Amino acid sequence: MTRTTREWQAADAAHFLHPFTDFQALAAKGSRIITRGEGIHIWDSEGQQILDAMSGLWCVNVGYGQQALVDAATEQMRTLPFYNSFFQTAHPAAIALAETLAELAPPGFQHVFYGSSGSESNDTVVRMVRRYWDIQGQPQRQILIGRHNGYHGSTMAGASLGGMAAMHAQGGLPIPGIAHIGQPHWHEHHRTPGTPEERAAFGLEAAGWLEAKIQELGPENVAAFIGEPVQGAGGVIIPPATYWPEIQRICDRHGILLVSDEVICGFGRTGQWFGCQTFGAKPDLITFAKGVTSGYVPLGGVLVGERVARALIERGGEFEHGYTYSGHPVACAVALANLRLIRERDLVRQVREDTGPYLAQAYAALADHPLVGHAETCGLMGALWLVRDKATLQPFGPEVGIGMACRAHCFGNGLIMRAVGDRMIIAPPLIITRAQIDELAARIRRCLDLTLEQAQRSGWL
Ligand SMILES: *Cc1c(COP(=O)(O)O)cnc(C)c1O
Repeated sequence: MTRTTREWQAADAAHFLHPFTDFQALAAKGSRIITRGEGIHIWDSEGQQILDAMSGLWCVNVGYGQQALVDAATEQMRTLPFYNSFFQTAHPAAIALAETLAELAPPGFQHVFYGSSGSESNDTVVRMVRRYWDIQGQPQRQILIGRHNGYHGSTMAGASLGGMAAMHAQGGLPIPGIAHIGQPHWHEHHRTPGTPEERAAFGLEAAGWLEAKIQELGPENVAAFIGEPVQGAGGVIIPPATYWPEIQRICDRHGILLVSDEVICGFGRTGQWFGCQTFGAKPDLITFAKGVTSGYVPLGGVLVGERVARALIERGGEFEHGYTYSGHPVACAVALANLRLIRERDLVRQVREDTGPYLAQAYAALADHPLVGHAETCGLMGALWLVRDKATLQPFGPEVGIGMACRAHCFGNGLIMRAVGDRMIIAPPLIITRAQIDELAARIRRCLDLTLEQAQRSGWL
């Protein structure tokens, strides 16, 4: 269908309620209409090429236009577009993917439960964790602990596990039996760069908030702790190296389950197959979605470690939970093709040993920019913290909206970089090359310069 941009925008505003959107504000402005993608780039309806440094929404890890994924979907649709696995049936795609995931997962994970998204999969986590403790004869263990500014999706349970205040303010959240602790975010607490020793000490302090919360709630009432290895939607908050091992120790001490939400960090983003491997944790459950199919079709799920799997399988009877699309054959076939491509191209090692360190260098150079208070990366995720005064790390006031101003310059200059408050974040496709990282860094610098000029003109400094 060929229409002009204005025609698309009018139909969009008339009928399409976008997620996480102020409908009226968008209708006044008009959506940007994205029409195609290839590699790390997308194009809009005006024909402008844009470097997609967010991989869509943290998911298009093998980039756009991968024929192998298209072929896998086509072939599976032709052979068996759908069948369920409720009534003691299965199909080759879901079985083969479960087998592959067990192979790629950290030791001890031999089972998978499928959903179609990260949110659904975290709903499964809540059901599964509570069921586990029922089976163990400790049904009072109901409470799951998440973190402020964590993101675990947008269903009732997902949004409750997450710690986004604006989400909790709508719809009566969190649901009962969810508690939160602070996030391991150095700059939320300190206006200094911090020495390595100070940051290490802060990691232990932040993990200690879990211990304190468990004591407050009573260890006998706590079912699980859930966290993202690196908080993505919260602004690419990279914890100190001391944090996750200490979280692990605390969970072990109280026997509570550890859930690693790897919807973003899974499948190579941090330079290992799973973020918990980068950060030294051994979770009981791993939530995955996004990158498992590189976003070509929806798929999510929970990797189930031995302790929970044994209880469910050997002593649990029927688990009263599942979705029509649990293990959807087309999604599973695409995931298999996607994971094969990641392996064939050795992308996880490439991120760990080549492009990840190269991005870190590029970000170290960007740290010189007068607007940048702090620059950091983990694998192929990066964050730039924009500050008013570089010497004292004095932040801009929220009324300035410095992040949104910078994002607007990016949008106008062929770059998708997202703003979370005053943090500018990226998570480019894992196929990005060194030359493309150079191009990315050049575009980022140009957009920072434009933002600085605007700040000077507008008297924000
Ligand atoms: C995106 C995300 C989710 C939610 O996934 P959806 O597919 O949007 O439901 C959950 N957890 C994390 C860490 C995410 O980044």
